[in-house]
Amino acid sequence: MRIDIMTLFTDMCECVVSESIIGRARNAGKVEIRITDIRDFAGNKHNKVDDMPYGGGMGMIMAASPIYNCYKSLYSESEPKPHLIYMSPKGKTLTQERVVELSRLNRIVILCGHYEGVDQRVIDEIVDEEISVGDYVLTGGELPALTLTDAVCRMLPGVLSDDICFEEESHFSGLLEYPQYTRPAEWMNRKVPDVLLSGNHAEIAKWRKKQSLIETKLRREDMFNKLELTEKDKKLLDE
Ligand code: SAM
Repeated sequence: MRIDIMTLFTDMCECVVSESIIGRARNAGKVEIRITDIRDFAGNKHNKVDDMPYGGGMGMIMAASPIYNCYKSLYSESEPKPHLIYMSPKGKTLTQERVVELSRLNRIVILCGHYEGVDQRVIDEIVDEEISVGDYVLTGGELPALTLTDAVCRMLPGVLSDDICFEEESHFSGLLEYPQYTRPAEWMNRKVPDVLLSGNHAEIAKWRKKQSLIETKLRREDMFNKLELTEKDKKLLDE
């Protein structure tokens, strides 16, 4: 998969995607991530990419042409138009389900807004989807774009050491994850549940499933109510 990020703050993006699991996946060729500076497409002497809003008001608006030209530079006429996502507080809130769907595409391009936002005409012209990372406003789309990139990359084959890593994780199957522990077995008078030290894999799996159901019920009633509980799940909860 190839992910392009269009931004005015390339260093901010580059340093995140060069590190840790995503950096290693990138180096190993499991994902191609390219970061492009919208300013390179300013098309004027002072590399100006923003201007005052029509109608007045605070802040600056990112102009349409540099974004349009930047996007057009990312693919040739003979290629299909890559799916363009604009990170925006007005978009649909990102979910794990959407992350999995996006990870199945060959290419995505992510547009990071800044200042007071982006000229609506370029959004109408080229954007396929607007995604928000939550009901709050950040100074720019870089952190949301990196959040999306990270979430999508870890769904790609071979990026995590084992697919089971994400299959049991929060949100993957509509459940929150069970509590996790590591050594020592006792810390500040708090003990790791005995079952996890038992070596009995069937009992461990049962305990984890029960804890997942309980965590989801207690923390996210909205998610719990959407679950189709099996008779086995109901029995586990009643035990
Ligand atoms: N004036 C805009 C509004 O009220 O909707 C907010 C602009 S915000 C200060 C600048 C940029 O940050 C946006 O263009 C967008 O790319 C990004 N951004 C801010 N909050 C976001 C969020 N919750 N999710 C995704 N992107 C966000």
